[in-house]
Parts: sequence; structure tokens; C-alpha cells
Amino acid sequence: MKIAKVIVDVPVMQTNRPFDYEIPRAMTPLIQKGLRVVVSFGKGNRLLQGYVVDIVDKQAVSTPLKPIVDIIDLEPVLTPELLELSDWLAKSTYAFRITCLQTILPGVMRGSYDKVVHVLQPDYPQLPTFLKQAAPVVLDDQVGKSELAALLKLRQAGVIRFEYQVHNKAKIKTQRAIMLSQSAESLLQQAQALPERLKKQKELLHYLARQTADADFVWVKTVQSLFSASVLKTALKHQLITIKALEVKRRVLPDKRVAEAPRQLLPDQKRAVAAIDQATNNKLAKVFLVEGVTGSGKTEVYLQTMQRALDLNKSALMLVPEIALTPQMVQRVFQRFGNQVAVLHSGLSEGEKYDEWRRIREGKAKVVVGARSAVFAPLENIGIIIMDEEHEYSYKQEDTPRYHARNVAIHRAAYHHCPLVLGSATPSLESRARAQKGVYQLLRLPTRVNQAPLPKVQIIDMRENIEQHQTLDFSRALSDAISVRLAKKEQSVLMLNRRGFSSFVMCRDCGYVVKCPNCDISLTLHMDTHTLKCHYCGHEEPIPKKCPNCHSNKIRYYGTGTEKVEKELQEMYPKARIIRMDVDTTRKKGAYGRLLKAFGDGQADILLGTQMIAKGLDFPNVTLVGVINADTALGLPDFRASERTFQLLTQVAGRAGRGAKKGEVIIQTYNPDHYAIQLAKSQDYEKFFRTEMNIRHQGNYPPYYFTVRLACSDPEENKAAKAAFSILKLLQPGLSQKAIILGPSPRAIARIKNRYYYQIIVKYKQEPKLAQTLDHILNLTQKSNYRQLQISIDQEPLQFM
Ligand code: ADP
Ligand code: ZN
Ligand code: ZN
Repeated sequence: MKIAKVIVDVPVMQTNRPFDYEIPRAMTPLIQKGLRVVVSFGKGNRLLQGYVVDIVDKQAVSTPLKPIVDIIDLEPVLTPELLELSDWLAKSTYAFRITCLQTILPGVMRGSYDKVVHVLQPDYPQLPTFLKQAAPVVLDDQVGKSELAALLKLRQAGVIRFEYQVHNKAKIKTQRAIMLSQSAESLLQQAQALPERLKKQKELLHYLARQTADADFVWVKTVQSLFSASVLKTALKHQLITIKALEVKRRVLPDKRVAEAPRQLLPDQKRAVAAIDQATNNKLAKVFLVEGVTGSGKTEVYLQTMQRALDLNKSALMLVPEIALTPQMVQRVFQRFGNQVAVLHSGLSEGEKYDEWRRIREGKAKVVVGARSAVFAPLENIGIIIMDEEHEYSYKQEDTPRYHARNVAIHRAAYHHCPLVLGSATPSLESRARAQKGVYQLLRLPTRVNQAPLPKVQIIDMRENIEQHQTLDFSRALSDAISVRLAKKEQSVLMLNRRGFSSFVMCRDCGYVVKCPNCDISLTLHMDTHTLKCHYCGHEEPIPKKCPNCHSNKIRYYGTGTEKVEKELQEMYPKARIIRMDVDTTRKKGAYGRLLKAFGDGQADILLGTQMIAKGLDFPNVTLVGVINADTALGLPDFRASERTFQLLTQVAGRAGRGAKKGEVIIQTYNPDHYAIQLAKSQDYEKFFRTEMNIRHQGNYPPYYFTVRLACSDPEENKAAKAAFSILKLLQPGLSQKAIILGPSPRAIARIKNRYYYQIIVKYKQEPKLAQTLDHILNLTQKSNYRQLQISIDQEPLQFM
């Protein structure tokens, strides 16, 4: 008997293994590894979506197995490689296998279930009216708690029955097309025979005969724009044509393309390309770190090494931090490789993602560009993987599975025996340290392609500024520099560092700060809606006119928000045209691209934005970059604060002077002597690396140590704390003397969405028993009597807040 091993869609520890299902004889020829199926599960025989991860032969089974109910896919959605990857991912991130499978596939393929109510006793007196019709009723998500409770009672009384129906959200998009039922000649003959008064009918037949000369069909839409519906109907009635729904794939790339030829490489680029190509040719899973200043031609290195993989009839995968933020990069890949490019990122609609994914799965797209989750693109025969801006935090997923795309890329490169190229102007310390040790091969591009000098960077001490200047946000130097640009009709980019910082409302008499009632953080002021919002849970309330604590009316906002700065700027320069770019102005689909294009087209003088403007912009008319507050991130309780500040400042400085005109950068700070800021001024990555490595060494931090964070949360603080201490007890026996344990301690933001968080951080070098211990902890806490307790394990966390 053939048995399918199926991972079912129930993300809890007890179901975190494959279950055996019988393959009914009729399905035997269809079933394959990597297919999605519908199975019934548990005592209630709930219908669930599942993934066939293996097919085995079994002689006899003691208890009869349940059969597979249905097959969802005709072709496997998961390749053998992706099946293996899901297993590895689950183990290395301490996540459930089902969660990993769902992460690997596009969202629309995730199972979702309709609850269907069947009425067993239609004449039951207290039957709610909406159930009185005989047909089964699909419950929508809107059913309230009390209604549901009533339904549960009815179920207990045997009046109704629930059924779960899996439905597949993935829908292909179709469009109606006209096809000829006869040959074009016969169509023309019939047209000839038609009487003169059916002039339109004649015209239609001629038109269709002409159009189908070099195509199999004509879109109904097109015909409808030319002929009336009745003319079309007549043709249908006489069976001259048929109408069929044909699939159209949603396209996310522009139709127009200006092809771009490869460039003659400069010596440093040549060396890098040669080293990478050698690995591609010889099927070596080597990792390269391309360290190149902004404008040094890294992208050209990526494109040419990708071309090499394509020449060998292989595919190429390119990861970028967040596509919405790097439209120019996608454009360049498209210009080079045309229609074989597929794009995957969070800005696409579910349908668009699904279509792009299938173009890749079907082998029609050989080049994939995408953000973090594109690392799971179902490419086969990968010849090269590129990861641009490898230091970016967006490569780490903050939810389960808590994977870093770099690690997944390393794993896939090993599977495909292909090189992985990490590129950055400011590599992560981890990667740079690995290159130092020879684990990665370092390739440096130390100069800009056009020999343009890096822009001059000036540091302004804001502590001196407070007394001299009436506005808190702009120093004299920065406002003068903006005036000069406005006079010369050059453009300025101003960045406001918003991380860990926001404008909040505080009472100047008693110091009361308005906080979120659900979370332990201050609410952020939003000028556009005139409300205070919580950035964690979405809570929103009006701005108070009086202090809720002391009733003083001196309650004002503090801090610097983009809206406030925009207002200030507008007051300082009434004639300046300003584009503001932050989460609020870029929320709508495509807004980011539109704003950038407007700025690129010269429709504004000043681009004011948060960190999102630091990336990838390349506008020749920008000659001034101002950083309004460089050091807000330095104060965060996070050992990576300096690294992050250095990276951000270096990156944003690279936006200035990319064209023929010279660029200038002004950085305002309250910590002018901090090494991260000083070294960003000289843009000396190598020196920053050495300095920071020393500090990490002294503090026993990565890359000298690995870290893992265990966090638990509960609606009751004492339970969260108690659980954290019992976890500590479980952890200690699994660790050697050399491991360093920090905590348990409340997180910096101890309460989020009404849950209290406690965490333990382990720093270690080699702990062979650690993984097993963590699995054990996960298992135990699943069974715990703390029903509300949630526990998460984060290997190499990037956020410690
Ligand atoms: P990076 O990715 O390192 O910031 P880019 O690859 O974007 O740098 O290169 C900066 C600019 O130099 C781009 O406009 C690019 O087209 C151009 N460029 C890159 N390599 C060459 C080359 N070998 N010859 C001429 N121009 C080049
Ligand atoms: Zn909140
Ligand atoms: Zn007060």
C-alpha cells in the first residue's frame, strides 16, 4: 500500500511532524511529493490543507489510515529542493514545518477555511433566521462571539453540524478570447454570401479573418470596442466563432524596455567578475563579499556575473533590501535581461505575486529580482545568487520563521553548487569578519567609477546651536546651504532619522507623557489626522487639550516628526517646493515611485524623508544632503547602534554629488565626537570595522559570539516573569560554563498589545547541546499550564528592544 506523509496546516508542536494518509487507488497516478492535498484531521475530521512531503510503501498498518480527500495541485508546487529547504528552515529557526512551507509559497496558496453550517433539524423552533433556508450556509468572519456561542449550543443539541471547507485562494486571471470555429477562408466566403444590409456582420468576419492570420485568437475586449454586442452575438449564434476564457498573467514589469548593453569593465570590476565567474564555471558554492563604495560599479558586477550564469543555461537570483525602495535597481535588471525577469516583493498584489511565482516555477522566468522572501523563489538550476546591500536589516524576518535571507541564500547556493555574492558599501560586521577569516572571499571596489570624489562631509555640533538659532531642527550651516541650493536651482535631500524616535506629547508643567493604554510606549503625533497613534498596536486617540494628569494647558509635542519639519521648512522657505516621504505619504501602492519620479523630474526642490530615502537614489541634480538628527539611534539599548548609525550616514551621504556637480553633506548631531559619526564623515569603512570589532571583542558581542534570544510573553506580567525563570532553569543544564546568559529581564518595551515580554539572551561560541535544549524547551512550554504563554526563539536577533 502507498502512503503519503503529509504536513497538515495546524501550527502547534503536537502536529509538527508528517502524518500518514492512505492514497486512494484512483489518486495513485496523480500523487507526487510537493503537492498540496486536502485531508481530514483529528477527532472532528476537520478538513485541512496539507503538503505531501514524502511517499512511502507500507506493508500493513495496525489501524486503518484515513484516505486523502482531494488533491489541490496537479503539478507539485514544491520542488524537492524546496521541500528539503523547509525542513532545514524549521530546524534552524525553531519554527513549525507548516509555517515554513507556507513562508516558502506565495500567500494565496495558504489554506484558508470556510466554516459551513449544515442544518440537521430544519424545524427546530429556536433556529436563527439566517439558517432557516435548507442549503448549507457559509459563515463569514463577521460572526460575532455571542452568535458563535449560540451556534455552538445548537451544535451540542444536534441541531446543526459544522464542516470546514478548504478553499484555495489562488486564482488565475482570465480574459475572454474569440477563436474561429472554421478556417479564415471559409469565414471570408460566408462574409461574401451575406446580404448587403448585414454590413457590420460582414465587417466583423473580415476583421476576424485578418486578425487571426498571425494569432490564434482575438480578445473579446478589443472586438467589443469596435463592434456592437449584437453583431458579436450573431456570429456566435451561427457558430462561426467560439469564446474561451484564456489565462493572462499579470505583468509587473513595464512593457517598454530600453535595452542596455554591458559596459567595458574597469580593472577592479574585471578582477571581481573574473573571480566570481570562475566559481560559476566550476560549480563552486563560494561566498564572495564585494565591498565597494557607493557608485563604484557593484551593480555592473552583479549584472555581468548573472549574465554568465544565463550563458551556462542556468538561472540567477538577485535579492535587494526592499524593492519598493530600489525601483532603479529593478529597472536596470530589466533593461539588461528583459522578459526573462520576474519580480517578487511585498508591493505586489497577491494575484501579481502568484503569477510571477508561476512564471518562475514554469521555467519562463530565469532571472528573479526580489526582496527578502524572494530567496525562496522556485528557481531550478540556479547558477548565481546576488544579495545587494547585504547589511540591511530588512533581510531578517522578525516573525516566525525568524530567518535571515543571507543564511537561506548560503544554504541554497550550497545545494546548487553556485556562488553567492554579497555586496555592500558598509558590510555587516559579521560578513566582513568572515571575509577577514577567509570564510568568504573579499573583493574590493575602493573608487567611484567616474573618479568623482566622495562628497565633502561637514559635522555640525547641535549643542552649540541651541542657544544661537531660533529653530531647534536646523543649524545655520544647514539652512544656509539649503538657501544656496534654492538660489542655484539645485536639489536637496534632507533625512530625518526616525528610528527609536518620534514626536510625542508631553506636559511642560508636570512632565506627563501620553502613552498607549495597551503598550508601554508613548503615542506618536500625527498632524494630518490630528490624532495620537500607537505604532505598535494601532490605537488612536485625539490630541488632548489639557494635561490628563495636572490639567495644565501647557501640553505640547516634543521631538521631531517629518510633518513638523516640513512645516518649519515651508515657513523658512515659503517658495520652496517640498516633497515629504515617510510611512504616511507612501502608504498607497505606487506612491513611493510616484514621489521619487516627481523629484527626479525636478518637480520639487527639497526631498524630505525618513531613512527610506537613504537607499539607492541616483539623482544628478542633488548637490546637498542634510541629516537633521544623526544620533537618535545611538541612544538605543542595542549593541549594533553604532554600526547602524555608521551605515545609515554613509549610505545617505552617497546620495550627494552623483552627477557632474560636486556634492556636499551636512550632518547635525549632539554627539559630534562619537566614532560612528566621525568615521561616517571620512567614509572610512575599514577603520570603522577595526574600531567596532575591538568594542565587540571587549563586550563579548557578535561576531565574536553567537546570540540567541528567548522571549516569552503573557497578558499577566507575573506569569511572563515566572515562565522566563523556569525557562532559565531548563536552559542552564544544556549550556557549558563558557556560555553567557543575560536575563531574564523585561524587554525595553515591556508591554506590547497588552502582553508583557521577558527575555533571555544567550551569548556563546560553541554549544553542541544548545539546539536540542531549545527544542526541548519549545516542547515543554507547549504543554505548559500557562495557556496564554507565548514563547519565541530568535537565532541571531537584530532587534533587542
Ligand atoms: P554601485 O552599485 O556600486 O553604487 P553602480 O553599479 O550603480 O554603482 O555604478 C555607478 C554608475 O557608474 C552607474 O551609472 C553605472 O552605469 C556606471 N558604471 C558602472 N560600471 C561602469 C563601467 N565599467 N564603465 C562605465 N560606467 C560604469
Ligand atoms: Zn499600543
Ligand atoms: Zn501636566
